[in-house]
Amino acid sequence: MRERHASSQYLHLGSRHILIDCAEGTQLRLQELKISPMKLDTVLISHLHGDHYYGLIGLINSMHLNGRTNPLKMYGPPELINILNLMLKASDTHLRYPLNFTALENHEPQLLDADNQLKITAFGVKHRIPAWGFRFDEIVGRKINQDFLTEHTPSHEAMQQIQLGKDFTAVDGEVLANETITHQAHHPRSYAYCTDTAYHETLVRHIFRADLLYHEATFGKDMADFAEQTFHSTTVQAAEIARQAEVGKLIIGHFSSRYKDTQILLDESRSVFTQTELALDNRKFLI
Ligand SMILES: [Zn+2]
Ligand SMILES: [Zn+2]
Repeated sequence: MRERHASSQYLHLGSRHILIDCAEGTQLRLQELKISPMKLDTVLISHLHGDHYYGLIGLINSMHLNGRTNPLKMYGPPELINILNLMLKASDTHLRYPLNFTALENHEPQLLDADNQLKITAFGVKHRIPAWGFRFDEIVGRKINQDFLTEHTPSHEAMQQIQLGKDFTAVDGEVLANETITHQAHHPRSYAYCTDTAYHETLVRHIFRADLLYHEATFGKDMADFAEQTFHSTTVQAAEIARQAEVGKLIIGHFSSRYKDTQILLDESRSVFTQTELALDNRKFLI
């Protein structure tokens, strides 16, 4: 539909700028939202249906033309890199920046990336062709407990070591375990993305207690049979997965174009999981 474009999401945390799927029109949407693609450090592609990656070659090429030199990490189905390489070769394009591609291999949870801010995991979903979901877990540093500081007055260097997770040896030789003298600075936030999947209870353990879950809901609840045949989910199935996974909030999207009015889809999902919102174009969610 004109006001409902295909899938692409932008996730921002600290210095990380991540694109999840890249349908046709993604570049224009990024422009509208004043998000520079040059900032992207990672692109994740869930599967090779066109509504999830047909915008990718355009985006890759634009960054090249705009002089990008920073490496770009990319994760996707194994065939993706061959498709991109063929297109680049045919146009005699030699990217100015390294495209570091990692293939998503099987359906077991796979750790893709971890730094001091974020951990990214991929896991298989249940679709007509191989497809993956992603989970993002914030890494939160440790803060030193105030009573420890008052009692032991550690040196600046010792404090740095403690913040890195090291234990502390007191002047009397007693070793104080890190977890007894620090606490987590704040609740680590998490987000999970499950698009293009049939109802699949295996997902529950992969997305368990995520603060925010995006789960596709292509069809209304009266189309459960068709959803199963086409490896998609209904509103109430998405909500049921959210309920079982005890997530904080659910966003549903990827609606079939047959639904002109999405309110009924929202109402159906909320009948099972009240904390549901709709993924509409350019909508932002703060976790
Ligand atoms: Zn698909
Ligand atoms: Zn799709």
